[in-house]
Amino acid sequence: MGAATRSEIDIDLDLPGKRLGTIGLVHSDDRHAFSRIPVPIAAIIGGDGPGVMLSAGTHGDEYEGQAVMQALLREIEPADVAGRLYILPALNYPAVLAEARCSPLDGGNLNRVFPGEARLGPTHALAAIVAREVMPRVRYAMDLHSGGRSSCYLPCTYLHWGGDAAHRRAKLDGARAFGAPGIVVSAGTANPGSMTAECDRRGIVMVSTELGGGGTIDRRMLAIGREGVRRALAHWGILRGQAAPAPLPTRLLLLQGREGSPMAEADGIFEPSRDLGDEVSPGDDAGLVYPVGEIARPALRARFATRGVVVSRRVPALVRRGDLLYNVASPVTEAELGLS
Ligand SMILES: [Zn+2]
Repeated sequence: MGAATRSEIDIDLDLPGKRLGTIGLVHSDDRHAFSRIPVPIAAIIGGDGPGVMLSAGTHGDEYEGQAVMQALLREIEPADVAGRLYILPALNYPAVLAEARCSPLDGGNLNRVFPGEARLGPTHALAAIVAREVMPRVRYAMDLHSGGRSSCYLPCTYLHWGGDAAHRRAKLDGARAFGAPGIVVSAGTANPGSMTAECDRRGIVMVSTELGGGGTIDRRMLAIGREGVRRALAHWGILRGQAAPAPLPTRLLLLQGREGSPMAEADGIFEPSRDLGDEVSPGDDAGLVYPVGEIARPALRARFATRGVVVSRRVPALVRRGDLLYNVASPVTEAELGLS
């Protein structure tokens, strides 16, 4: 048998019906000689409506979205769908199996390599096949992230503020339909290799999330994720017989830059003094960093430098100088975001 040379999807992505298959990711190293690593993909096609790509596990140690997608692909049948659904529940599958954010095969961060180029390694190859085969078939996308093992987030949808006003409006409307308690807008430039940047380049309306984290599955986050994906699908007209969702109370927040987010100024153990959702002001106490082995040195107090709401917090207690301890986002209006 000849060695596989090109990563390929083993199911048809256009025929009506429900098919469960794999992206056969070709990779050759000491562990995998001529392997096809089976990255799961489901296609559920029920009509001529628009296509949606739903993904999770882009970072392997973010589990809430993976559980949501595993449930959805089992629950949804072609008769439920007015268009096309492509579900990738464990997108960076090697990273998922390794309980890691990035791929153990090449260290690749899948959310930094779009649109991908197969010759640059397996993480690039995975991005390339998603960009080549799935993205051209969809108008909408959702990629469910959470904090992973390194951080915990308030339950929120997460929008990079790319594209023109109409594109931004469509993203915000999708996030409002999802109905998480927070919508966090990141106005800084998205990394050009992120999935969201690739979707922006293609005009695909993408809504991302940050749902919990800590390397586990919080039941409240799971419930918000499950309900939210169905609500967004209904808003986009994908689910048959499901009316557009009634609005839920949501706080619109603008992510503040690193300068507003306290960092560890020494190596040590971080003792937090704030919780997710707390409102903070410049100068407020953020916690202490104890230099572990140097007991004659005073603990260093970290302080917030901006006004806003704590939307994420670092999980591991051991910190290195320069590690981010919290992210802060500030209330913002649609008008302030340039939307009429
Ligand atoms: Zn992530």
